[in-house]
Amino acid sequence: MTECIACKSENIETVVAVERVVYKGHELQVPLEYSTCKNCGREFVPRSQILRGEAAVRDARKKFDGLMSSQEIAKARTSLSLSQEQASKVFGGGRNAFSKYERGEVSQSVAMDKLIRVCLKHQHVFQELAEKAGVKVDS
Ligand SMILES: [Zn+2]
Repeated sequence: MTECIACKSENIETVVAVERVVYKGHELQVPLEYSTCKNCGREFVPRSQILRGEAAVRDARKKFDGLMSSQEIAKARTSLSLSQEQASKVFGGGRNAFSKYERGEVSQSVAMDKLIRVCLKHQHVFQELAEKAGVKVDS
């Protein structure tokens, strides 16, 4: 449970404010969370909300760039019946790549995004990559 950084009260309200973030000369609207103490009125941003905010900004930039969001990556991976670890073996990017993409901690590259989309569309391409990576998949 979050407590107030000033008075230690646990009577905290989460507030969502849409912020404008400039990216590549365009304004993106990103919903960002902060906390308000209902006891003393202090506003603050706990670490969990900072991390969610960073992920939200990253997702907004990805959307602008035409890349899949964290949720879309997770959906693509599960539709290919892969665990996060298997997906990293098949597509590359390092052992923890997919857990980072799906938490919004890191953005996938344009090349990675294209490869995943191709695999969603063309089962034989996916089968070949999985086979080369030594990952067994149900077809
Ligand atoms: Zn307080």
